[in-house]
Amino acid sequence: MNTLSPTQTFVDLPATPLDASCLIGGEWRSGEGASKAIITPYTGQELGLVRGASMKQVAEAVEGAARAFLEWRRTPQKERSSKLLSYRALLIRDLESLARSAARECGKTVAEARAEVLKGIEVLEFAAGLQDSDVGGAMDVSRGVRCEYIREPLGVTVGVTPFNFPAMVPMWMIPIAISVGNAFILKPSDKVPFTPCLLGELMLEAGLPKGVFSIVHGGRDVVEALVDHPGVAAVGFVGSSAIAKSVYIRATSAGKRALCLGGAKNHLILTPDADPKVAIDGIVGSFTGCAGQRCMAGSVLVAVGDCEALVEQVVEAAAKVSLGRDMGALIDREAHIRLTRAIAKAEQEGAKVRLDGRSPHVPPGCEGGAWLGPTVLDGVRPTMECSCVELFGPVLSIARVRNLEEAMALERESAYGNACVVFTSSGAVARYVAENATAGMIGVNIGVPVPREPFSFGGTKESKYGVGDITGVGGVEFWSNRKKVTSKWALQSDKNWMS
Ligand code: NAD
Repeated sequence: MNTLSPTQTFVDLPATPLDASCLIGGEWRSGEGASKAIITPYTGQELGLVRGASMKQVAEAVEGAARAFLEWRRTPQKERSSKLLSYRALLIRDLESLARSAARECGKTVAEARAEVLKGIEVLEFAAGLQDSDVGGAMDVSRGVRCEYIREPLGVTVGVTPFNFPAMVPMWMIPIAISVGNAFILKPSDKVPFTPCLLGELMLEAGLPKGVFSIVHGGRDVVEALVDHPGVAAVGFVGSSAIAKSVYIRATSAGKRALCLGGAKNHLILTPDADPKVAIDGIVGSFTGCAGQRCMAGSVLVAVGDCEALVEQVVEAAAKVSLGRDMGALIDREAHIRLTRAIAKAEQEGAKVRLDGRSPHVPPGCEGGAWLGPTVLDGVRPTMECSCVELFGPVLSIARVRNLEEAMALERESAYGNACVVFTSSGAVARYVAENATAGMIGVNIGVPVPREPFSFGGTKESKYGVGDITGVGGVEFWSNRKKVTSKWALQSDKNWMS
């Protein structure tokens, strides 16, 4: 396996420009819609082009998927799982090139990109494992009468994904949707189209029937065409809250099943009795990992009581985070402008900048990239923008509260509900936070509490529109129906109220 050091990726531009095509009916086809240049956030240099699908191509993708579905839905679970296991072997074989691709187009470090591919593989393992775990259920409910569940796919399903995890978020959806027998069309972020194409190439190599997995690139028009298409049964979406909400309303108004995950503003509650190393590593990793561009990133540090010594160490540790080695770049210059403006606004509103990432030490040769160093704002009040709006960058806002009740009130008032984390040595405090926080995913002494499979991923409030979760057991329920069959094959010897 060709292992790269993280710094290698900064100069690892493709020999020839990349070209992201659509995968329609199992064939790679150049998009006939609008095209867009893709840059690498490391240096600002162009990586290549993504060509969006035309409306005709979107319709062809749905038609091709619908044809493939007819056969795929009748393919036994064990055969579907077997194909997914072949796919898994290829993902492991190509782990380094997938990670390098994701890092290059998204700006994260190779180690972070590797981790996202591995998390995608974990979801795939869960999905392939349905052959062993999803045996439905059956029971003799009366003498001679039997009830059973049959799991059924929905049809042509669609997943729309964001820029920050070019491999992982598509892999939250693809394996489960396909494993239960759907055909799946991915509309990746038009900022990171190349890694999803690699996922598609490996699908074909694994021998998945043509049309079971498709890719259409593009922006809003392509998403809306997919959501509106009468041949599409269900839509999974991951992205910012406003768009998640609009996609959810559009899809459900058309009678479709939808689960749309949105943005986040995650609270990290720090108590004075927290283990210093666990807390400092957890907090710094949480807000600087993936340059803060994670829906599970810590965003507001709620310091309960006198935590000054711990806070000081958080600031010191964050100051040592090295750009290029420990932390990557922001996705683009627009994100950089938005974040530097947000930091300036926080200052104007009275926050103290304890660590300023606005003039960072950029890796050599990367001066044209979108780099922002870790930034810590202290004395943040609930009404300030940095306290309640998703910033999506390596910025930690510190709110000071007197007690746990005040901490929980801050968390409760947040519009979002993805993650809430507590750093404490007290089991009672941990339990109190777990039971009282409104977020969907709780961490105790862990900065990024992403549930591992088969536990499902999903938040609450404006972090999720729809019922259920996107991965794990929740994902299986979302991407399928459970049909209920009641059969009577013998003369029923006992009569009951239902006979
Ligand atoms: P985004 O909302 O801008 O884009 C997400 C997807 O929607 C992309 O595929 C994009 O092309 C498409 N899109 C853009 N405009 C659209 C429109 N008007 N109508 C329909 N589709 C449209 O999100 P992003 O900037 O790519 O990703 C960052 C956001 O995603 C953050 O808010 C982050 O918190 C969120 N996110 C959430 C989760 C989660 O699990 N809750 C996970 C990852 C990212």
